[in-house]
Amino acid sequence: MEIKAIRGFNDVLPAEIGKWQFVEKTAREVFEGFGFSEIRIPILERTELFSRGIGEATDIVEKEMYTFTDRSGTSLTLRPEATASMARAYLEHKMYSFDPVAKLYCFGPMFRHERPQKGRYRQFYQIDAEIFGVANPIADAEVILMLIHFLKRVGLENLELEINSLGCRECRPRYREELKRFLADRAFHLCQDCQRRLQSNPLRIFDCKVEACKEAISEAPKVTDFICPECQVHFDRVKEYLGMAGLSYLLNPRMVRGLDYYTRTAFEVVSYQLGSQNAVTGGGRYDNLFQEIGELDIPGIGFAIGIERLISLLPGEKEFVKYPHVFVAASGGGTQKRAYELANQLHLDGIRAEADYEGKSLKSQMRRADKLKARYVLILGEEELNRGRAVLRNMGDKSQEEIPLQDIVDILKDKVKQRGKETF
Ligand code: ATP
Ligand code: MG
Repeated sequence: MEIKAIRGFNDVLPAEIGKWQFVEKTAREVFEGFGFSEIRIPILERTELFSRGIGEATDIVEKEMYTFTDRSGTSLTLRPEATASMARAYLEHKMYSFDPVAKLYCFGPMFRHERPQKGRYRQFYQIDAEIFGVANPIADAEVILMLIHFLKRVGLENLELEINSLGCRECRPRYREELKRFLADRAFHLCQDCQRRLQSNPLRIFDCKVEACKEAISEAPKVTDFICPECQVHFDRVKEYLGMAGLSYLLNPRMVRGLDYYTRTAFEVVSYQLGSQNAVTGGGRYDNLFQEIGELDIPGIGFAIGIERLISLLPGEKEFVKYPHVFVAASGGGTQKRAYELANQLHLDGIRAEADYEGKSLKSQMRRADKLKARYVLILGEEELNRGRAVLRNMGDKSQEEIPLQDIVDILKDKVKQRGKETF
């Protein structure tokens, strides 16, 4: 029987990879411009990192983690998100001893055992960026500005930035109690999950996608009416700094985010093109995460972008696909060896050259060049080769010219550049 990939685990095929590379390259440029450095963290971590960091009563920890015991009996988990690992790395390598402020980003796969559907997979990729060590709301505005700038740079439109404040350890318990009280006599309307959440983590009910639960909670008190004066000042500053950076936003008091560690600022960017899985990215401040996983009290703020969802919003794929610059076509006799030599030379100069491997006829090589969408075909004829020349055919306008082979690299570089876009 043919072996297939696991449900919810996708291949990213060469036809799509141009978009991924474009997104990653743009993220690197933008983030590094904002002073962030890349970090690479393991895909497997000890389970406690996530159960303590993300919180026991979250959907991720309760039902979405890929957890198993390895051969030495240690409980390990495929990372469901990157922030906890980045915080662990910051502590483990005492990055704060050089400078308390660390601005880090990473790319990579995350794993969550959710029901696969459009925009929701079991292995999916995120771009993460975090600032550790800054309590000042300037950092909140800075990461949000960077995020919006990045999304615009990749070409997304129709985006809405939503922000909220979730309060802190001091004021959120009061809100939780208020919410519980409000929901107590509506509990029988709630789905089973939410009835459980009502006890363990009532804020999570805001995230429930079940209509009856949405209805039950629609008139609930707002978290922002319960935050303490310090949280209020922080939130006001965030709004002020966002305004100074020219960003507009929507206040959404019902946006709570799925991870327990968030405090104060929470934000999401939604796209109205995405339907029900509409969040492209989300993030927030997490001033308690470090205490959960280590001994130091370090504030943090950051975001995670879902790459698949982001890519599903990008315009058509044509310009992202890398077609061959040139197909080197041999026409029998000694020309095949010469084609091999020339293709090597072009490859070493970074020109995407293809050639025939099977001694096919010139006609069939031309057909293949056409199918591969090669921009030029270099036709090697015995007679021209003897004079150090070959025919270069432009597959776009079908024009042909004879060129000296000694200048082939320069000629092709020139021609490809003239067509714009391309960089070598
Ligand atoms: P959602 O409400 O859609 O479940 P979330 O709150 O669980 O999102 P985060 O944990 O904040 O999401 O992750 C940030 C981003 O990662 C999301 O905005 C989304 O783009 C993406 N993402 C999350 N879960 C998945 C998934 N299972 N498949 C694909 N992308 C995902
Ligand atoms: Mg989720």
